Amino acid sequence: MIPARQCKSCGTNVKLDKDQVAFNQVQSVADWLYEKRVSICKACPSLLYGTTCQHAGDIVTYRALSKEKGCPYPGHAKW
Ligand code: SF4
Repeated sequence: MIPARQCKSCGTNVKLDKDQVAFNQVQSVADWLYEKRVSICKACPSLLYGTTCQHAGDIVTYRALSKEKGCPYPGHAKW
């Protein structure tokens, strides 16, 4: 389990799991694809603080769940 972390500015927990990201099924990728994306992010050198993509600036668990989002890694997307 990932320990809770809080935003230094607003105090909001920034360690979000899939159930805490509010998308409907139309907007969300399948569970297996979400898990695959998150595992790639966890091994990526561009992951900051264990939560945030250096290039996109957003929380990877949010980005990985969205059908509309992709990996912004420079030169070649990792997913
Ligand atoms: S560059 Fe891609 S793989 Fe790396 S943390 Fe960002 S979204 Fe994840």
